[in-house]
Amino acid sequence: MLDSKAIIANNGLNPNKALGQNFLIDETAIKKIVELCRCDDSPVLEIGPGLGALTEELLKHAQKVCAVEIDANMVQLISANLGNNPKLSLVNCDFLKYPVERIKEEFSCGSFIVAANLPYYITAPICQRLFDSELNISRMVLMMQEEAADRFTAAPGAKNYVPLSVIAQQLFDISVGLKLSPASYYPAPEVNSVVLVFERSNRFTPKDFSKVVKAAFAMRRKTLFNNLQSIADKAAVLHIIESAGLSPSVRAESLSPSDFVSLSKAYDELIK
Ligand code: SAM
Repeated sequence: MLDSKAIIANNGLNPNKALGQNFLIDETAIKKIVELCRCDDSPVLEIGPGLGALTEELLKHAQKVCAVEIDANMVQLISANLGNNPKLSLVNCDFLKYPVERIKEEFSCGSFIVAANLPYYITAPICQRLFDSELNISRMVLMMQEEAADRFTAAPGAKNYVPLSVIAQQLFDISVGLKLSPASYYPAPEVNSVVLVFERSNRFTPKDFSKVVKAAFAMRRKTLFNNLQSIADKAAVLHIIESAGLSPSVRAESLSPSDFVSLSKAYDELIK
């Protein structure tokens, strides 16, 4: 296994806190994450490979690994250690700016698995991008801060039930794969971490699902009837809510993902 701590010391590096650089040093956890990926002979997109500890293990199983890393120092070190593996395609880029079209090309428009020990400061934007992108993702195994994981699995009515919870739970079946304490990382973060497994669901998702969910949650204390007036006029909103079998006075936080499917189906019907 690549020894991230030794690589850092030998190269006089200072892990960059602003880039969320907490490297996995727990070999058992790394093997377990790759097991959860079930990526034998499948292509994998890795976000934030860092020094390559997870990348190295992924390469033993995956058909290919495309790894996108923002830090040029990390890219240089991975190249030195793993660069001669023909299965590795290394990209030095901010994942949030890496064009979706390029990702599609990397995987010849076929399906792929996403694996990441995410940079925690941008967990939500990265996931939002993956959900919005219409990429052909079959499974995602993502390590994140416990608090963020709780949002993805939150139930309707919970304080931390947010648009991202609804969208994630509609597109994927989500389960907890692994829980890790700060001791599994170098440097140790201040929080516990959770690996979530997102298994692609085959549920029908209306075209404007995300738009309707985001509009419905726009002002948490407002009713569904009030919030949806940002995307349709009053009469249309009433029609949409009634067609979905809901009450105009409910709040978005009490609705299930399937309620949002009914709402967005009615919205799509109305505007087509
Ligand atoms: N995968 C490595 C591991 O498990 O040891 C490193 C994980 S570390 C938590 C997050 C990694 O994401 C860092 O290498 C950091 O440089 C990288 N990163 C931070 N922001 C990024 C961005 N916008 N796009 C791509 N990589 C990013």
